[in-house]
Amino acid sequence: MKAEIIGVGSELLLGQIVNTNAQFISARLAEVGIDVLYHSVVGDNSDRLERAIEIAQSRADVIIFTGGLGPTKDDMTKQTVARMLGQSLRYDERAMNKIKSHFERQQREMPPNNTQQALVLEHSTALWNERGMAPGMAITEDGITYILLPGPPHEMKTMFDKEALPYLLGLESDHDVIISRVLNFYGIGESDLETRIESILDEQTNPTIAPLASPDAVTIRMTAKAKTEAEAYRLIEPVEAQIRARVGDYIFGVDEETLASRAIELLRANGLTISAAESLTAGLFTSELATVEGTSDVLKGSFVTYSLDQKVDVLGLDRAAIEREGVVSSSCAQSMAVAVRKKTGSDVGVGLTGAAGPDSHDGAPAGTVWIGIATLQRVKTYRLQLSGLRNANRRRAANFALYYVIRQLKEEN
Ligand code: ATP
Repeated sequence: MKAEIIGVGSELLLGQIVNTNAQFISARLAEVGIDVLYHSVVGDNSDRLERAIEIAQSRADVIIFTGGLGPTKDDMTKQTVARMLGQSLRYDERAMNKIKSHFERQQREMPPNNTQQALVLEHSTALWNERGMAPGMAITEDGITYILLPGPPHEMKTMFDKEALPYLLGLESDHDVIISRVLNFYGIGESDLETRIESILDEQTNPTIAPLASPDAVTIRMTAKAKTEAEAYRLIEPVEAQIRARVGDYIFGVDEETLASRAIELLRANGLTISAAESLTAGLFTSELATVEGTSDVLKGSFVTYSLDQKVDVLGLDRAAIEREGVVSSSCAQSMAVAVRKKTGSDVGVGLTGAAGPDSHDGAPAGTVWIGIATLQRVKTYRLQLSGLRNANRRRAANFALYYVIRQLKEEN
């Protein structure tokens, strides 16, 4: 199968957003052996979209669209494809119910154009949008498969993995099953990770092993092809065990797990609560924890104590001691952790202090961070020397704190 990806949206042409959807889909298709020969981008213009589709029809068996499924006038992908295929649009009942109940829940009147989101091509298979309103579509006509996906990446990715890819694989009668498992790492750089598992990477065949670095984490995606799901998992298992044996300490979770979701899960499993006193991160650590559903069982509350005065007044820290040791110090992070643990009656207290940059702070060079973690058993402090820009350093400090919470809980429980 030869595929072409068409990104629809003037924002892409204006340089307001990057076509990360095409990148994601290409990587996924490469894993399953579908060649992507072209990426195209078209603005919100029906005539030009039509021309792009004609070109794609001449050179691809699969045409994947992202964007332009929304309720507004400039969203015209499905209308254009419908016209070209000589099809009308029908309402997808499941999507319609989702849209209606969304407005009912919010006790808001539904604007009439919102129902348009539930329209799909007459003879298409509707693709369920777990994370949004507009359903996607898949249809094969005259030997060409058209897949229409929403623009927002989080909606598109879930729909692609759960709906579109199975549809594509189902087109081949004796297709293999493709299973991926992702290992999520923190506290180790991509090149260090690759060096440590070099021989495993060199020997890879099935599963394939693909390391990937993002600003916040490194992942390894293992993808196996087999006749059945169980067989694919059996192929992945020994390779995962080999990787874990070498770099398992840095693995914080698998698949969709984030640092925050793992931390919350571990805390909950051990019946523990947490709170934080944040200086340089000014709430980022706590905010990240709160991204996880059901955090309220575990997160008691936090203090943003940015100034020395607040550290003294709110947390009750010893001013003279901080002045002696410095605000960016092991002892300050430790005292913050201990104080917030006590003040909130939490089982785990976290203290974050540091020099976010660009300037040094209280004698500590930019990028110096101290994290204190106080539990019933002990208080530990961790030092980081980060080299990024101010806000990257703040984000990384919060992520490292989550990572150290996970490690410390695993050691202690
Ligand atoms: P909506 O219902 O939100 O209007 P849609 O399917 O109509 O969704 P668009 O309106 O084209 O999609 O895009 C919605 C948003 O999704 C864009 O503002 C942009 O943030 C993101 N997006 C769209 N296309 C891409 C792309 N190719 N790569 C990355 N992000 C994209």
